[in-house]
Amino acid sequence: MEKKELDYFRQLLENELNLLIEKAGETVWELMEASSDNESDLLDRATQELSQNNVFRIRSRESRLIKKIRESLQAIDDGTYGICEDCEEPIAIERLMARPVTSYCISCKSRREAFEKAIGY
Ligand SMILES: [Zn+2]
Repeated sequence: MEKKELDYFRQLLENELNLLIEKAGETVWELMEASSDNESDLLDRATQELSQNNVFRIRSRESRLIKKIRESLQAIDDGTYGICEDCEEPIAIERLMARPVTSYCISCKSRREAFEKAIGY
């Protein structure tokens, strides 16, 4: 991949990372607000727990994404970004544009998905 393309993806990934980290900070703040309210009745509490569960679910998805973005940035540094982990062929630019954290080309990815489906993953 050309340097200007790598720079483009590095920029894209860094922006996304900053956004996610900012959002993660806000989520922690919301959780602190919610748990500091001891006056709430049972219904409120149930609603609160429900939304905290959602927050945790979203957060774990976010932290997985943060991890993937960090790995992609590392791959850019290592010079392995945009190379499929399975077949070691370059991943199509269009695919990277749509999903910059991907580490598989489209054919390896669909093969993996078909396999995961077959074994009931
Ligand atoms: Zn591949």
